[in-house]
Amino acid sequence: MSITSKHTLIIFLILFSLAALVFAADYPTPSVSTDAALANLKEGNARFATHEVSQGKPNAAKRAETAQTQRPFAIVVACADSRTSPELIFDHNIGDLFVVRTAGNLVDDYALGSIEYAVNHLGARLIVVVGHDGCGAVKAALTSDTAPGHVQSLVRDIQPAIKAVKGKEGDPLHLAITENARLMADKIRSQTDFGELAKEVRIVYGVYDLTTGKVDWGKN
Ligand SMILES: [Zn+2]
Repeated sequence: MSITSKHTLIIFLILFSLAALVFAADYPTPSVSTDAALANLKEGNARFATHEVSQGKPNAAKRAETAQTQRPFAIVVACADSRTSPELIFDHNIGDLFVVRTAGNLVDDYALGSIEYAVNHLGARLIVVVGHDGCGAVKAALTSDTAPGHVQSLVRDIQPAIKAVKGKEGDPLHLAITENARLMADKIRSQTDFGELAKEVRIVYGVYDLTTGKVDWGKN
């Protein structure tokens, strides 16, 4: 083999290895089925609600296991509220959940892009939107359709939920919180691009109770 051929072969091998590394970062197959992922969340939430938290704390072993790659089993869209951390309320660890959080669990372009990335590259197929009772963002939107600064954006985008439940029987705040979570699930369903993976994706929503620690999954 000539020196030029050897160089060509070496360059080819390097490029092939790099390509293999790049593709190895993708997970076209789901990390787990959506049914198993939802059951895993429900079991974790039951542990949390009954004080039997078993695996909620990050540790050195889990950090080492996930340092090079991640394969979360679910995507959680939650409120930025300090009392609703998905890793805690579902009793899971670093590397388990791909989490998107904004006040009022609203979904914008950045959130949609993040969700698409997690489905298309990390193997997650279950997407859950988790609202929570006593949500300050929804409360603000229920009180007024205007707010100072960038809070106005939140209040504006929660208004569709407020309007949808107006006049309905029940607690207006709870109704609006549930409707807002449902609308965000709908928005994810209609505005994301998962390509061929779309048929594998399942999207559900729930409402977390700050007092009991339980997530109500409603009609999902
Ligand atoms: Zn909130």
